[in-house]
Amino acid sequence: MMNLSTGRAWGLFASSHMMPDIDRSLLAPEQPSLSEMTGKSIELLSQDKNGFFLMVEGSQVDWADHANDPNYAVTDFLAFDEAVKVAVDFAKKDGHTLVLVFPDHNTGGMTIGSNSDSNYTSTTVEDVIAPLKGMKLSSAGVAAKIGTDLSSENIKKQLKTWWDIDATDDDIAEIIELHTNGENLSLDYAISEVISRNHTVIGWTTHGHSGDDVPLWAYGPDYPTGHIDNTEIAGYIAKELGFDLNKTNSHLFIEVGEVFSTDNGDGQLDKNEYLLNVTDSSNPVLEIGDAELPVNTNILIKNGVAHELEGIVVYAPATGKVYIPAGALSLVN
Ligand SMILES: [Zn+2]
Repeated sequence: MMNLSTGRAWGLFASSHMMPDIDRSLLAPEQPSLSEMTGKSIELLSQDKNGFFLMVEGSQVDWADHANDPNYAVTDFLAFDEAVKVAVDFAKKDGHTLVLVFPDHNTGGMTIGSNSDSNYTSTTVEDVIAPLKGMKLSSAGVAAKIGTDLSSENIKKQLKTWWDIDATDDDIAEIIELHTNGENLSLDYAISEVISRNHTVIGWTTHGHSGDDVPLWAYGPDYPTGHIDNTEIAGYIAKELGFDLNKTNSHLFIEVGEVFSTDNGDGQLDKNEYLLNVTDSSNPVLEIGDAELPVNTNILIKNGVAHELEGIVVYAPATGKVYIPAGALSLVN
């Protein structure tokens, strides 16, 4: 990635998800940071004189909050913050780049001061920060270190080694109860929930998503302000990029059923008929007459020739509908 200086690129740096930022140096030092990937993306994309759109997701802040793991949340948020800095630094130099930073929802319902009750006026910053300072891995990392040995000694030892937490017998009993009985929580979730509750002043209301309002930070020309619905952001971005989402819909997302008929089942697919071939359910193929359009690609194949479309073929399993770019219509005919 670092050697790349021009052209199209697709970087995959892990076989599944990437490591939590806090686990990277110990468990996957070869993986780039979010800010490094952001910097490289901007370096490549900003070479286009027509400008560019870049979406960067600091996705594991959400995972950390699902786990109720405060240090994982803070460290991944800081990694995201570094990426924001890279983007804003570019925007400052560039002078006409808009940077929008926002979550799509809150997770976990994190609060500061859960155990302060009547003495909240005496809760200090140190009370909040101190328990997190000894945490050198995410809860997923600690759970991996614990492995299958769920003995009290082993769990205590790993929590001491990796989190500098002196877990009590009651803590261990609660962790085992959450993990194996009751809620059947994964080990990392159970550890985080119990240690947060018993050893920090950080509270959580859920392991799921929560409905509170979320912040929107913005930098650059003509940025949105105020209390807005998150779905308005898409319309705002479209306006800034100079296009109309409704026009885009009618240009790129034609619902196949509105133009063609479903296969009448006479054993052959006529020119005006379509069907969704799900023989390979992971890779469905839309067939219209003698043309094939693999779902999630921008390819139409006819008479052995592959044509590139200006948009991708979209299949919505919930409605059974398939959408194709308008350009595919003339190719089919
Ligand atoms: Zn989530």
